[in-house]
Amino acid sequence: MKASPDQRVWRNWAGTATAAPARWCRPRGEAEISAAVKDAASAGLPVRALGSGHSFTAAAATSGVALDLSGWTGITAADTRTGLVTVRSGTTLRALNAELGGLRLAMANLGDIDAQTLAGALSTGTHGTGARLGGLATQVASLELVLADGSVVSCSASSRPELFAAARIGLGALGVITTVTLRCVPSFTLAADERPVPLEEVLEQFGALAAANDHFEFYWFPYGRKALVKRNNRLPPGSAPAARAMPGWRRFWEFEVMENAAFGTLCRIGRVRPRLIPALNGFSSAALSSRSYTDVSHRVFVTPRRVRFVESEYAVPRESLGHVIGELRRAVPRLADPVMFPVEVRVAAADDIWLSTAHGRESAYVAIHQYTGLPYQDWFDRFESIVAEVAGRPHWGKLHSLDAGRLRPLYPRYDDFRRVRAEVDPEGRFGNSYLRRVFGDADEL
Ligand SMILES: Cc1cc2nc3c(=O)[nH]c(=O)nc-3n(C[C@H](O)[C@H](O)[C@H](O)COP(=O)(O)OP(=O)(O)OC[C@H]3O[C@@H](n4cnc5c(N)ncnc54)[C@H](O)[C@@H]3O)c2cc1C
Repeated sequence: MKASPDQRVWRNWAGTATAAPARWCRPRGEAEISAAVKDAASAGLPVRALGSGHSFTAAAATSGVALDLSGWTGITAADTRTGLVTVRSGTTLRALNAELGGLRLAMANLGDIDAQTLAGALSTGTHGTGARLGGLATQVASLELVLADGSVVSCSASSRPELFAAARIGLGALGVITTVTLRCVPSFTLAADERPVPLEEVLEQFGALAAANDHFEFYWFPYGRKALVKRNNRLPPGSAPAARAMPGWRRFWEFEVMENAAFGTLCRIGRVRPRLIPALNGFSSAALSSRSYTDVSHRVFVTPRRVRFVESEYAVPRESLGHVIGELRRAVPRLADPVMFPVEVRVAAADDIWLSTAHGRESAYVAIHQYTGLPYQDWFDRFESIVAEVAGRPHWGKLHSLDAGRLRPLYPRYDDFRRVRAEVDPEGRFGNSYLRRVFGDADEL
C-alpha cells in the first residue's frame, strides 16, 4: 500500500511531543505493513508505528513514515483452555478487555487506563501493580514482527529467544509488532478497598502491604499527611462481581465528578493562583475517603483520566522506597513552583525482559505528576536526582532526561539489546530522535 503525503501533525496525549511525519500510512494487514516498511526503505525514510500517543516521551514521533495501526485490530485466535490469545497489535486495551470478557478471559494485570494500544503499551514497559506480578510484557507468550527488510518473523521463549527478550519491551526499535499472543487467565473479580492512611504508617508497613495484597498501591498528595491506600484482591473463581458492585450513579459520582470534574476544577484554580496550590493539594488530601466495592477485574484496574497532566516515573529497588519518599517530602517545601498532582506508588515482581524497568529486581514504581500548563521542571529534576541515588530506571514512555550513557549501567542486558537491534535493523530504519538519545547514534551500535 502507498503511504500518502500529508500535512497532518502528530501530537501526543499530554502535548509534550509533536511531529510532522513526511507520510502517513494506515495498513490493514501484515502484507501492507511489510510493504509500507519496504517502501519507506526505498524512499530512504525512517518508520515508526504509532500507538494511541499516550507516551509522554517522543517515543512514537517520526519525521518519516507514521504507521497508523488503528485499522489493524481484534483477536485472531483464542484457546479458552490454555488462555493463549492472539491479538492484532493496534487493538486498544479497552477493546481487548471487552473481547476477552466475551471469552471469559482476562489479562492478569493492567495499568491505570485502557486507551493504549496493546503494542504501544508493551513497547514502553507499561505495568500495573502487584508484588507477585510483572508488567504487561510478562504476559506475552510470543510476538510476530515485520523487520526492517520487510520480512515477517515470530519469536518466543523457544524460537529466536534473544529477539523475544528484546522485543517484548522494544520501544519500537526492532520492528513493527503485528500480532501478540498473550497468556490470559480466566476472568476474575476484584474486591477493591481504598482508604486514607497516615503516610508514615503506609511507609512503615509498605513491605507487608505489598506482600499481603494481590494489587497494592498508594497515592500521596505532597502537601497532605495522608495517603490513599488501594488494595485490590482477587475473589475466588465464580464470585459474582455484582454482589458488592458500585451502583452506576455512584461510579459516575466518584470517578467522573469527584476524581475528574471536581479535581479538574481545583487544578484550574491552582493554575490561575499558583500560591493556592499547597492549600488546594492539602484539601484534596483531606477530602480522601474510603470505599469498598467489587467488580470485574478490568473495571477495577482502569479508571477514567480526563484531567491532563505530565508525568515522570522511575522503578527503584523495593527496599529504597522509604528513602525516596522521605527525600521527596523534604524537597516539596523547597520547590520554586508548587505541585498540584499526587505521587503514585506501585510495585512489581522482578522479571527477565532485557529492558524491563523491573529487570532482575523486585521493584517499587514512584510516579510524579503535574497539572498540564503548570511549571514542573524543578520538581522533575529534584525527583531525578533522588532516584539516581538508588539506581532508578525511568519508564520508557514517561518524561525523563537520561541518555545512553546514563541508561547503560542500569541495565545488565543493555548491550545485548543494542546488538540484537543492530542485527535486525542495521540501518536504523526504525530510529527516531528519542531512540538516538536512549541508545546512542546508529554508528555507535
Ligand atoms: C493518562 C495516562 C495513564 C497511564 N497509565 C499508565 C500506567 O498505569 N502504567 C504504565 O506503565 N504506563 C502508563 N501510562 C503510559 C503508557 O502506558 C505508555 O506510554 C504506553 O506506551 C502508551 O501506549 P500507546 O498505545 O499510546 O503507545 P504510543 O505512546 O503511541 O507509542 C509507544 C511506543 O510504542 C511503539 N509502538 C506502537 N505500536 C507499535 C507496534 N505495533 N510495533 C512496534 N512498536 C510500536 C511506538 O513507536 C512508541 O515507541 C499512562 C499514560 C497516560 C497518558
